[in-house]
Amino acid sequence: MIPCTKCGACCVAPDIAALDKPLGLVCPHLGPDALCTQYDNRPQVCRDYAPDELCLKIEAATLEQRVANYLALFGLTAEAEVVKRAKLLSMKRARS
Ligand code: SF4
Ligand code: SF4
Repeated sequence: MIPCTKCGACCVAPDIAALDKPLGLVCPHLGPDALCTQYDNRPQVCRDYAPDELCLKIEAATLEQRVANYLALFGLTAEAEVVKRAKLLSMKRARS
């Protein structure tokens, strides 16, 4: 069995429809310690998620690098960049 290191990557890298969380963006419920702030109320998809070989494949020193490794592994780096830019643009528009 592969242990969860509580690295937080699975709360950032994938898109999670149940949370309306886009690809590569941090789940709003992820705390600064990389732990879920809504653990008792997290959706079923999060409850069902279990550590596997992927957790080992994306291992890196930082959360940012682990997320980058995850996205690269699935060929989603460019798509995540588009999502990130769109989010930044909408935040910029909201401020102006
Ligand atoms: S990516 Fe794997 S090791 Fe990291 S928090 Fe998620 S399940 Fe745990
Ligand atoms: S709700 Fe919690 S467990 Fe689910 S992605 Fe967000 S931070 Fe992670």
